[in-house]
Amino acid sequence: MDYESYKDNLKRIADEINDTCARVNRNPKEITLIAVTKTVEVDTIRAFLEIGHTDFGESRPQELVKRNAVIAESINRHRKLAGLNPEQVTYLPRWHMIGRLQRNKVRQILPFVGYIHSVDSLRLAEEINTAAARLGLDHKVKVFLQVNVSQEKQKGGLAVGAVIPLADQIATLPNLEVVGLMTMAPHTEDTQKSSFCFGRLQEIFEEIKGENIIGPSFQHLSMGMSQDYIAAIEKGATMLRIGSAIFG
Ligand SMILES: *Cc1c(COP(=O)(O)O)cnc(C)c1O
Repeated sequence: MDYESYKDNLKRIADEINDTCARVNRNPKEITLIAVTKTVEVDTIRAFLEIGHTDFGESRPQELVKRNAVIAESINRHRKLAGLNPEQVTYLPRWHMIGRLQRNKVRQILPFVGYIHSVDSLRLAEEINTAAARLGLDHKVKVFLQVNVSQEKQKGGLAVGAVIPLADQIATLPNLEVVGLMTMAPHTEDTQKSSFCFGRLQEIFEEIKGENIIGPSFQHLSMGMSQDYIAAIEKGATMLRIGSAIFG
């Protein structure tokens, strides 16, 4: 485990985010860096929390459940040891479910997940809506619609033409809040291809906003990974999902 190099990487990426924002005239505060922790130990998540990094992404629901339980337990123990009351909280994690989500896993993650980035069907949205009601959640579940802009067969996500019809339908579900759109660019070093893909998602985003299909909650673009986050920032990304550039 090499926390110091992880933290150095985090700092370097934060600097690059700032530089890119300055160049394209954006406010870096609009951008959340999600550390994708699927390849690292839970101790790394703890170490990041200690320095105030709170956004974490996982791609497998089971892993998310397990890790949340371990972290919650150690936060409680730490609070007791330190004699803290609940207002004097150390940093709490905000979990992002970024991978494929099967309907039968929805119930397990809903109680604690912050955002689900991978909604790509009405059936999944309906399952989330129903499960949220059953669990008696006191908040709406924040979701992204995942779009398969690059039309790669192996990728999850909606076809471009299916996004607006689905957004229309989901807007009627009371326990869900669509906060934005998510995509993965093709795996390539060709930044023009990634850039094109992100630009396309931005256009669809603006179209949905312009037609006011969803309302004020709709404000995010989840796009940009280790290889292509600079291009994503240039096209308006507000949530970057970065794993290997931090953790190697
Ligand atoms: C793994 C993963 C990432 C992070 O990928 P890196 O290339 O390691 O930054 C981002 N988004 C999703 C959906 C992932 O599964």
